[in-house]
Amino acid sequence: MNGGPGKDIEASKANLTRLAAPVTSISGIGSANAQRLSPLGIQTVGDLLHHFPRKYLDRSTVTPIGQAKTGQEVTVVGRVRDVESRTTRKRKNMLVITIFDGTGYLSGVWFNQEYHKDRLKEGVEVAFSGRVRYEYSRLQIVNPAYDILGGEGSGSAPEAIHTGRIIPVYPGTSGVTSAMLRRFVSRALEAYGDMADPLPESVRSRFGLMGIAEAVREIHFPEGSESLKKARYRALFDEVFIMQVGLALKKKKRERESKGIALAPPGEMVSRFRRSLPFELTAAQEKAWREISGDMGRSVPMNRLLQGEVGSGKTVVAVLALLLSVENGYQGAIMAPTEVLAYQHDNRIRKMLEGFSVRVALLTGGSERDVQRAVAAGEVDIVIGTHALIQKEVSFERLGIVVIDEQHRFGVGQRVSLERKGTSPHVLHMSATPIPRTLSLTLYGDLDVSVIDELPAGRKGVVTVVADKSQRRGAFAMVEKEVALGRQVYVICPLVEESDKLEARAAQEEAKRLAGVFPGYRTELLHGQMKSDEKRDVMERFQAGDIDILISTLVVEVGVDVPNATVMIIENADRFGLAQLHQLRGRIGRGSERAVCVLFADPATEEAKARMKAIQEYDDGFALAEEDLRIRGEGTLFGTRQSGLPDLKLARLSRNFDLIRTARGEAFKLVEADPTLRDPENALLRWEVNRRFGGALEWLFHG
Ligand code: ADP
Ligand code: MG
Repeated sequence: MNGGPGKDIEASKANLTRLAAPVTSISGIGSANAQRLSPLGIQTVGDLLHHFPRKYLDRSTVTPIGQAKTGQEVTVVGRVRDVESRTTRKRKNMLVITIFDGTGYLSGVWFNQEYHKDRLKEGVEVAFSGRVRYEYSRLQIVNPAYDILGGEGSGSAPEAIHTGRIIPVYPGTSGVTSAMLRRFVSRALEAYGDMADPLPESVRSRFGLMGIAEAVREIHFPEGSESLKKARYRALFDEVFIMQVGLALKKKKRERESKGIALAPPGEMVSRFRRSLPFELTAAQEKAWREISGDMGRSVPMNRLLQGEVGSGKTVVAVLALLLSVENGYQGAIMAPTEVLAYQHDNRIRKMLEGFSVRVALLTGGSERDVQRAVAAGEVDIVIGTHALIQKEVSFERLGIVVIDEQHRFGVGQRVSLERKGTSPHVLHMSATPIPRTLSLTLYGDLDVSVIDELPAGRKGVVTVVADKSQRRGAFAMVEKEVALGRQVYVICPLVEESDKLEARAAQEEAKRLAGVFPGYRTELLHGQMKSDEKRDVMERFQAGDIDILISTLVVEVGVDVPNATVMIIENADRFGLAQLHQLRGRIGRGSERAVCVLFADPATEEAKARMKAIQEYDDGFALAEEDLRIRGEGTLFGTRQSGLPDLKLARLSRNFDLIRTARGEAFKLVEADPTLRDPENALLRWEVNRRFGGALEWLFHG
């Protein structure tokens, strides 16, 4: 190398490093302003430049007040001229804030929301949106949606920065107006705007991406809607691409460094097990098993997510994997998120393996020391357990595979600590919670994924009905009929203790009540506060058909499998999330009989109503998950923060699936070709990835 390109890179790196300077290094931002910016997550110049507008107002769609007509939905922009707060005859506070835009006056009106006057002071430039009314010979909008555009001061001089057609509106906080942000950003761009581009030229040109410096400028001070669109696409691409590069690097590193156990292909024990099953595997199960057994034959430890709708038959596939390990002389472990589920696995797996010389043990919090000792001594082949499995005292003699059932129920830390047991065992994560496709590409982006997208034949499915109190008798009549036919019923109540009497029907109360309603039938109670062996006993009796009606809290949410249960009644269903409801109703409809799920609900909020509608409408878990994302927005659905991934600010995950997939493909290709980003062309990318992952990928800089 002649030092030329290397020097360039050093200069560019230095250029990027400058973005880490504190905001106070920008003229006009002193410590007071820095303090105001800090709640917005803005500490550095780079943070400020990446604090993107929340939305844009297009001046060409702003209506001059003089032309606003009654009944019309409009956005108007003006300066606050008058603030009036008074008490109405009905003793309400009425706040009237009047703006003027050169063509006329219009008032925003609020009742009992006097606090708006703290933000909408005289002289502030504001946009009001809403339906125009004409009252007391005045134009007004009641409860307008508003955005503060400019700060106080009547002169228009400081606002020269945003006289363009498109006005950016920033996510703000108290004491920081959009106008201030524009001023700060403008100064930051002056001093730091020539930033180097972290994306390799090859990627930029393949996707026709705008340069970063231009994009950032455009996002803050748009020239027009076309260029703004390109700029935002660029920023979105970066966000997604850089995250995927990080994930790809993580995956590569693990593959490179951890020594896995290359198992021999499936042999006699596995095929005997397959022959012993009372059913054929579905094509989807076969495919998943091929992928899993393929992984297990490599010396790179498997790290695969097996996703499958509730009832799609993941357990059998897991047992195949456990047996493959045992067949090769290694132990296998399967970890469940609840005791109830661990018992069930224990029951079912023992039954499936009757006649096989495989030693199975259950290890939960209440287990004896003996079990641990046996596991450590290698006297146990398959260990089934709860998170007790990951306690420090538990060690394995030769652990070949760990199956983590309902893995989304475990915290990230827990997952990791189990993976560390033994010498890099293969890991199979299983999840029935339909993870939206977009999410599985990010949150679980370093995992390989197998999907069981087909239910065993002959399932009649579940009919879901959302009901109110008036339909209770009908529901009970149905319960009566089904039980008379020999079927079983779940009644799910949200709380164990009657601590919240008014709202939640406690399971205990309900159990008492139902025992009275159905005197001839066998009712039983199951909740999380019961002793382990009590829980186990109840589950076993329900499984054996010795209980007709099981009144339960959420402990049956995941994984429980009683094919003879055909009815589920869920009380206060509007209090549950969609994923939970879907999991719950997945407990029924597992046999060849048609099943009915009745949701008693009294949804108060729009969101709850939307949820009830969705659960009734969609029976496909993935469609439901996407819907859930839409209803809730991504922010609340997952803890990317907890998972150690950078937060996605721009990417509305549910809407950007194609982009995420494309960027992911590109990122993985790039890392495949340059697994440590040593290529000079990727030097800045490497720097940027590390920055975005908050140093979590620091190893990139070692060795
Ligand atoms: P999940 O994927 O929700 O964990 P399970 O593994 O509990 O589902 O399987 C649900 C039920 O379907 C079980 O009773 C299981 O025995 C049965 N099952 C699994 N695979 C098949 C198949 N290929 N054909 C018929 N029934 C199956
Ligand atoms: Mg399961």
